[in-house]
Amino acid sequence: MKSDSVVFLGSGDAFSAGGRFQAAYLFQNEPDSLLLDCGPGVLTSLSRNKISPIPINTILLTHFHGDHFAGLPFLFLYYTYVEPRTAPLRIVGPPSVGARVMQLFRAMYADSAEEKLPFDLRFIEITPEKELLLDGRRIDCFHVPHTESSPSYGYSIQSAGKRVVFSGDSGWTEHLLRHTKGADLFICECSFFESRFDMHLDYPRIAENAGRFGAKRIVLTHLGQEVLQHQNEIAMEMAFDGMMIEL
Ligand SMILES: [Zn+2]
Ligand SMILES: [Zn+2]
Repeated sequence: MKSDSVVFLGSGDAFSAGGRFQAAYLFQNEPDSLLLDCGPGVLTSLSRNKISPIPINTILLTHFHGDHFAGLPFLFLYYTYVEPRTAPLRIVGPPSVGARVMQLFRAMYADSAEEKLPFDLRFIEITPEKELLLDGRRIDCFHVPHTESSPSYGYSIQSAGKRVVFSGDSGWTEHLLRHTKGADLFICECSFFESRFDMHLDYPRIAENAGRFGAKRIVLTHLGQEVLQHQNEIAMEMAFDGMMIEL
């Protein structure tokens, strides 16, 4: 398998600060692409980047906040009516992923959710003890402090000798450093600049620890209004919608 190209389909926060799309990262490697999180603007962003959703075989979810998974029902409809797919689609996420996704689908498209999809939808619950090997990628998750009702994960995705780590949405934790060490790319949430919360990361905290992550390249994403307002004071690489990184 050749190495993936990471396409930042959505580099914005839950509020789409600066007109950015919400969380979605495509690990493009046809015919086995992987989507990491699936924000509601995913189809628009794929379409703007002239990328077909069809090669996506696996979708990883970090947690069940709308800006990270509300794009799924639109994808299901796309795969039913626009470019019908027959290949199975795997959705990997924290425990109860199947129930949460189907609940969302029913809330958004009650009639379609009652009908059988033309493709196999397979839900895979992942836990930090369980490593997955899918389409030549080694996928590990780890807990991050963000939600209380169900776990939130960060991910480590390894393929063709390259490893990408994604923080998901996360408050500060020293545990992050264990996972980012030696990564080729660390995609790091950065929602705030002046404000500090237990459930999100802010730029000063990331900058003061930048050397400790031990990653070859760090890209900030999930960029909020404060971060965009302080762009001139940011000395780290920031993502933008449509950005592509060849691993
Ligand atoms: Zn978020
Ligand atoms: Zn969140």
